[in-house]
Amino acid sequence: MSSNLPVLIVATRNSHKSSEIREMIGDRYRVMDVNDFPAMPEVDETGTSFLENATLKAVAISREVAGIVLSDDSGLEVDALGGAPGVWSSSYGGEEGNHARNNARLMAEMAGSEDRSARFRCTMVLARGGEVLADFSGSVEGRILEDAHGAGGFGYDPLFAPEGHERSFAELGAEVKNALSHRGRALEKVAAWLEREA
Ligand code: IMP
Repeated sequence: MSSNLPVLIVATRNSHKSSEIREMIGDRYRVMDVNDFPAMPEVDETGTSFLENATLKAVAISREVAGIVLSDDSGLEVDALGGAPGVWSSSYGGEEGNHARNNARLMAEMAGSEDRSARFRCTMVLARGGEVLADFSGSVEGRILEDAHGAGGFGYDPLFAPEGHERSFAELGAEVKNALSHRGRALEKVAAWLEREA
């Protein structure tokens, strides 16, 4: 990959997120994440909305590095659960980042529920030098499956079938997921903004 590409630092330790972002815009940006930088601070996600948490992450990391930082705060909203797990998606099963436990809890909470409608949401914030440049969002409607299907993707992907598809994000594969996903839709807006403004 050409090292002449402009660098974009994703404010996450979740390499699934940065890999998806790299798959989508890696031809135009050299996508790095905080795992590439030793001694980056841990950012406490104390906000109560995707925008608040995305802003906290982008601002904190952009104080520590030169260049443009992109954050992604995302999660799953399930109508039958009143919008849960929402901003608490990554720790829904009781342990931060434990996708198996998160999925087990979601299946248990949804057992017998007829209303399976849900959506993934993603908010992205661009920041530089501790200042927010802009924010963007994307979402994808779908439904929660009765059982987990597929091994691709991450997080709740085995339990989520996007609108218009019978199969889960984990079965559909990266290309289909990225073309439809909350992250893909937010990132399209980010890329257009960067081309115009940066
Ligand atoms: P965050 O790191 O606080 O933004 O939490 C994101 C959490 O939302 C992840 O740990 C997953 O549980 C869930 N999530 C976000 N995006 C996706 C996705 O694309 N597929 C499956 N789960 C996702």
